[in-house]
Amino acid sequence: MTRRFDDLTDAVLAGTPVGPDEAIDVLRATDEELLAVVTAAARLRRKHFGNTVKVNYLVNLKSGLCPEDCHYCSQRLGSRADILKYSWLGPAEAVEQAAAGLRGGATRICMVSSGRGPTDRDVDRVARVVGALKEEHPDVEVCACLGLLKDGQAERLRDAGVDAYNHNLNTAESHHDHIVTSHTYADRVDTVTRAVDAGLSPCSGLIAGLGESDEQLVEALFALRELGADSIPVNFLMPFDGTPLEGTWELTPGRCLRILAMARMVCPDKEIRIAGGREMHLRSLQGLALHVANSIFLGDYLTSEGQAAEADLELIRDNGFVVLGADASAHGPDGRSPAGHDPAKRRRGAGTDLPANA
Ligand code: SF4
Repeated sequence: MTRRFDDLTDAVLAGTPVGPDEAIDVLRATDEELLAVVTAAARLRRKHFGNTVKVNYLVNLKSGLCPEDCHYCSQRLGSRADILKYSWLGPAEAVEQAAAGLRGGATRICMVSSGRGPTDRDVDRVARVVGALKEEHPDVEVCACLGLLKDGQAERLRDAGVDAYNHNLNTAESHHDHIVTSHTYADRVDTVTRAVDAGLSPCSGLIAGLGESDEQLVEALFALRELGADSIPVNFLMPFDGTPLEGTWELTPGRCLRILAMARMVCPDKEIRIAGGREMHLRSLQGLALHVANSIFLGDYLTSEGQAAEADLELIRDNGFVVLGADASAHGPDGRSPAGHDPAKRRRGAGTDLPANA
């Protein structure tokens, strides 16, 4: 019964891409079939990315105060979410924040700003930051995410040393207008196309849990395949209080795993990145998810906190993977954490006056 997912992988490896019906089958696998789905997707992950995990680090250059109305976003116009709001970081602080991510193990820095899109002055500002960062860290890979691009901006970023440009499609074309009205799906495709035409590596992904159907999730993935996205961040909606999607809770850890497996099956050789909402929605299945996806963000997200960066690295090591581009000796030859192992002593429950941990 579960052999059909392995057959799907065999077909992909033999050169037959997955079709929409098969992608829906992956999304609708039963709990009993879940491990078979992971195993089938993991074969593709191993073939294209071996035992490596790409580690990315976000620097939010400008936070909140956005005039757009994306329903899922804590930085949107009218958002009452209690997030950090600030205008452009100075160049020194931006470089310092990026360097912290590199020291933590990241190899790619994602420089993000809120807003509909940059002015030419904003692009120059980001170009200066990227120049300064690359001078100190010549091997760093930089992805910019500044919103909708206008004529000449992608080329200016490329010339400044930017390697990739992120602009997510977020959802299917057929669902787009339910989640944002201040720009169109076509605007989003246009910006990804501008990045491709300028020779930047296109990074574009989605957010699951926005009220879309299975068919729409598959539609979004096929659109990303069509656009040629090199890296595909898969976000799971974090429903901030004070946004229109406050209280929306459609995802389970198993559902998230199936979505990642479907993405891997549809785009077998592309970077599938577990993005925002990883800890909140995958919870104890984060490790299994790494056997399907090959990329994560280290530490915090744009406006929310992630788990401790050290826990991210531990997650990678514990599941038998290595950080792409990292010095293999950094964590000891057997991959054990150098941290101490003295157990925390119990001070609650039986024999104490404090409540039990139950
Ligand atoms: S997703 Fe971007 S464009 Fe949309 S509201 Fe948030 S910051 Fe603004």
